Amino acid sequence: MRTIGYAVQSAETPLAPFSFERRQLRSNDVAMEILYCGVCHSDLHWVRNDWGWTVFPAIPGHEIVGRVIGVGSDVTRHKLGDHVAVGCMVDSCQQCDQCKKGEEQLCREGNTGTYGGFDRFTKEHTLGGYSKHLVVREDFALRVPDGLDLAKAAPLLCAGITTYSPLRTWNVGPGSRVGVIGLGGLGHMAVKLAAAMGADVTVMSRTTDKEADALALGADALLVSSDPAAMEKAANSFDLIIDTVPVKHDISPYLPLLDVDGTLVIVGQVGPLAEPTTVPLLLGRRRVAGSPIGGIAETQELLNFCAKKNILPDVEMIRMDEIHHAFERLEKADVRYRFVIDMASLSAPTDTSF
Ligand code: NAP
Ligand code: ZN
Repeated sequence: MRTIGYAVQSAETPLAPFSFERRQLRSNDVAMEILYCGVCHSDLHWVRNDWGWTVFPAIPGHEIVGRVIGVGSDVTRHKLGDHVAVGCMVDSCQQCDQCKKGEEQLCREGNTGTYGGFDRFTKEHTLGGYSKHLVVREDFALRVPDGLDLAKAAPLLCAGITTYSPLRTWNVGPGSRVGVIGLGGLGHMAVKLAAAMGADVTVMSRTTDKEADALALGADALLVSSDPAAMEKAANSFDLIIDTVPVKHDISPYLPLLDVDGTLVIVGQVGPLAEPTTVPLLLGRRRVAGSPIGGIAETQELLNFCAKKNILPDVEMIRMDEIHHAFERLEKADVRYRFVIDMASLSAPTDTSF
């Protein structure tokens, strides 16, 4: 299928319209028209090659909501017209212990990324959701529950699951004391989800600018991470801290904030951190962990949870051609709290036969 997207040709050039081919439907594939795509900070890292493994041309986008417009001959999970959603993965081996447990994100062979991956059959480089259409293995297309606002649901597919998964892994529930470092796309979902699970939630932000927002999102307090006295007062007061900071930083000031056996889970920075001190880890039996997205079943559980509890991201809707400005604002942590691209703003290609 011929389609159109926004691609970068190198780390130095801007996103620009790009015409390309989506693969022919395999028997277990669905084709979808993309209606909305969220703008994750990972997209910005990807187009700039911050992680060093971007393959060009590159089309980012892994918070995808759309409508099924074609089904392969063996497809049973979805039918024409269904609303479906795709997150950060489009395939995995389905054979290993992790895939069998529903932890496809931890596939022993590596999951196939929605962008930047390589198709397991053709070895073609995968291209993401800043585009009009997508062809995807049916098992990696989630059902969007009825009642979930399609225009707002897209960020659940990455920002949502990346914060939901550690909240579930560390058994957050009523009475849990959860800290969230950085109030951006991931951070604001962490706040909403942890609050919905009954936790006591504190946002750790660099300034007081987002205090009113933090409380409106469901947090109980905002702690200014640049205020050493306030940080000292908060010692030993968290069971779990979710760190969403997107760049190299020092986790040392946050470690004493954990209670005994508490965990700081890194979901933001992919790469080096400033060298931390181990003193608070050893003396307080504290832990540092990492967590990538979540499995397919867990992502469906999240979508169902959000539909049931009426939890939706706070979104700023943009046109595709406003992406450059959106990236500039994302870089400055000036987004309240997730940009979502309305794909109706991208002209359809003339031939969508498949
Ligand atoms: P975002 O919307 O830009 O939010 C990040 C927040 O971190 C900002 O709002 C800001 O909050 C804080 N921050 C920004 N720069 C900072 C700095 N220099 N020092 C300290 N704090 C800073 O980004 P996002 O979309 O939530 O993504 C966050 C990170 O998660 C990205 O690196 C992304 O690649 C990664 N990610 C990982 C996974 C995974 O599977 N683990 C999935 C998705 C994304 P304040 O203004 O409140 O300080
Ligand atoms: Zn993402």
